[in-house]
Amino acid sequence: MAKLSIRDLDVSGKAVLMRVDFNVPLNDAGEITDDTRIVSALPSIKQLLSGGARLTLCSHLGRPKNESDLKYSLRPAAIRLSELLNQDVAFADSCISEQAAAARTALQAGEIILLENTRFYPEEKSNDADFAKALAGGAEIFVNDAFGTAHRAHASTEGVTHHIAQSAMGLLIERELEFLCEKLESPSSPFLVIMGGAKVSDKIEVITALLDKADTFIIGGAMAYTFRKAQGHAVGDSLVENDKLDLALDILKKADELNTRFLLPADTRITQEFKNGAETKVTDSYADGGNIPDGWEGIDIGDVAIDEFCAEISQAGTIVWNGPMGVFEINSFEAGTKAVTEAVAKSSALSIVGGGDSVTAVKKYGLADQVSFISTGGGASLELLEGKQLPGVTALTDS
Ligand code: AMP
Repeated sequence: MAKLSIRDLDVSGKAVLMRVDFNVPLNDAGEITDDTRIVSALPSIKQLLSGGARLTLCSHLGRPKNESDLKYSLRPAAIRLSELLNQDVAFADSCISEQAAAARTALQAGEIILLENTRFYPEEKSNDADFAKALAGGAEIFVNDAFGTAHRAHASTEGVTHHIAQSAMGLLIERELEFLCEKLESPSSPFLVIMGGAKVSDKIEVITALLDKADTFIIGGAMAYTFRKAQGHAVGDSLVENDKLDLALDILKKADELNTRFLLPADTRITQEFKNGAETKVTDSYADGGNIPDGWEGIDIGDVAIDEFCAEISQAGTIVWNGPMGVFEINSFEAGTKAVTEAVAKSSALSIVGGGDSVTAVKKYGLADQVSFISTGGGASLELLEGKQLPGVTALTDS
């Protein structure tokens, strides 16, 4: 069901509550070390302010235990936002206090206030109805633009919608849905899914959901060793999920039944020492055994796998990528992830990088502007790709 968008709203003179994702990293001095999330929220904020909204923002930051956990205060975010907007941004010390309510009531059209961390109250995560009502604070319109928490039914993402007449998505969520849902409804073929990262178990539902939609899967990262072990190969000291071997075989069988090409890395780069500068070597191809000796562990895909995977990427019409090919954080083990990133960047396919560590990789190699779309939400983007409804979106008003 299509949902109301911020574009459909007349906000002039209206009290608007917007859930943003200001969960920014702070250093020990309480300074913001990366303001990307605040910058990303600016288009929706500016649209509401220029439309004459009386705008209240709320967000969580980190995992505070209670209100006295001031290292998780959003005050630095209010200061940064004020600099970016070149306008005063008021700040309320609590998200539901009388002082906050009075400040919200006093807002004029085009004015803005940021409320303190919603997670200072346990009622935020338990989605307590009274807390949600207080947070709604008599607003006439709710806008959710926090994609990263849209898969959680919390008071600030779901509960407040029961106390506000109109609830709409902001521009960030709208764009996430456009790429992760609409554009994947009828993807240009070949539709290539690249999965990597540490564990099969984290991505199993996405793999299963996309198995009959995709033409080809490429599997990298440590999850490949669970598949290889399940097939009877030796994986040495590599990271393996021994309780997922049957599951891995089921996936391989299902892919076969569905005629989906399911490509495991042909060879593996291995090491005896998990550190930068360590000596590495590449195994034989799996066709020739490909076994990893005891005392060695896989840390990246091998040279043959790199060539094969890059060739697949160059042929693709649509690419969805989640998870690195190896331990790319360590430069000696980054070749596979780097080559795949470069191939995705070079490809003319619609390319969607779905959250988490693959986003970090794309940024590490300075290629973020060469892909079609980078999702801002790890868990939320996986759930969308799994075909699930996000509570923070489902709760919005139907358009
Ligand atoms: P995920 O969050 O599941 O996408 O996993 C990302 C993490 O998987 C990264 O920190 C990688 O370093 C790690 N990773 C990828 N390949 C391997 C591997 N072969 N062995 C150990 N860790 C890996």
